[in-house]
Amino acid sequence: MKTTATSQEFIGKENRFGARNYAPVPVVVDHAKDCIVWDVEGREYIDMMSAYSAVSHGHLHPRVVAAAQRQLEKVAVTSRAYHGTALGPFLEKLCEMTGFERALPMTTGAEGVETAIKCARRWGNRVKGIVDGQAEILVARGNFHGRTSTIIGFSTEDEYRDGFGPFAGGFKHFDFGDMASVRAATTANTCAVLIEPIQGEAGVVVPPRGFFKQLREWCTQNNVLLITDEIQSGLGRTGKLFAFEHEGIRPDGLILGKALGGGVMAVSAFLADARVMDVFSPGSHGSTFGGNALAAAVGLEALKVIEDEKLVERSARLGEQLLSGLRGVMEDSRGLIRAVRGRGLWVGVDLNPELASGREMIERLAARGVLSKDTHETVIRFAPPLTISEQLIEDAIGIFRQVVNEKCMELGLMSSASMDLAMKIDKLLEIEELGERAMA
Ligand SMILES: *Cc1c(COP(=O)(O)O)cnc(C)c1O
Repeated sequence: MKTTATSQEFIGKENRFGARNYAPVPVVVDHAKDCIVWDVEGREYIDMMSAYSAVSHGHLHPRVVAAAQRQLEKVAVTSRAYHGTALGPFLEKLCEMTGFERALPMTTGAEGVETAIKCARRWGNRVKGIVDGQAEILVARGNFHGRTSTIIGFSTEDEYRDGFGPFAGGFKHFDFGDMASVRAATTANTCAVLIEPIQGEAGVVVPPRGFFKQLREWCTQNNVLLITDEIQSGLGRTGKLFAFEHEGIRPDGLILGKALGGGVMAVSAFLADARVMDVFSPGSHGSTFGGNALAAAVGLEALKVIEDEKLVERSARLGEQLLSGLRGVMEDSRGLIRAVRGRGLWVGVDLNPELASGREMIERLAARGVLSKDTHETVIRFAPPLTISEQLIEDAIGIFRQVVNEKCMELGLMSSASMDLAMKIDKLLEIEELGERAMA
């Protein structure tokens, strides 16, 4: 009799037949619902990663799935050679929610970024009068904008670049959060600044207060486009619909992706006002799958769900709980955690690299039923679906606390007696809280 395949067998197949460009956590996801993921053996995990914000709506949101199913009864792909009934309403909603006049749909985030780069350069040439081929785009050190050969060319991560040259020119670096270096990098040929409002891959790096206001003013004064990459930070992740709102500014161009696909498929877009976007003329840019009917139907529903379910407000509220809970773990961590930072449901926990690695800690978390992801060796990212409940956040923080305590004990930072005591106090607080909730 054939037994059902185990996690090990699936991992074996990926390792044997797949390119080796990833080193996944050894969890084989079989199925998922909202914020819970199950592996092949039926073990349950709290998803504190949400596929880097691609699953901000939770797994298989019923309204997004229904919208996809309705569209699949009609038509899925036609290419942009023809008009359709799904694209217009999607673009209208995108413009209405972002406040921009025009939207250009693509599929992956990196394509959205490529679109922004092309738009900025052509604007530089056609509107600003920069000689074709001379335009420069300023990018931040520590940036992450995707994996195409142009984009990795201006990454400052060796791992992303090594061996992949030659790279496209026309990009200059500045230090994230540092206006002096922006000023120094700007020339008459600068057409745009391309920047993440919060640097995700760099370790959830929040900019210093006022930086974006000054950057906005600088760009306006110098006739330079400010383009924010909100592929990860956008659509509610930081407790605002867009992270630029925290800074009290409005960019000239906006790139969206990840959550725009409602957790079921890849949908991205570049947005700008007509004065910028209209540099594109028929034939100058395109994509076979960009804005296909299925993607448009899914994207439209994804946007409506964010509004109807007040996911932005939820992210702000539960983000406070997540941040303060993780700060509490830091305070008791005997120096194992050196910083906790973030906005909304997006928090980076920075470990002391002499005491623990991010990878080791996320594997321990996974073994106890919490999925997260390390970045830059020392940072653990917590970014659950925006639909997560208070209780699940509490559970995840509790499990993280156990993992941290356990590591502290192994390192001799905490005696087993004091760890027992700490766990007992936690338990008592939990019981008390449950009691209070039952009374209320
Ligand atoms: C994920 C991401 C991208 C790239 O998106 P893909 O869909 O992987 O191509 C670009 N910019 C930021 C900020 C991202 O987080």
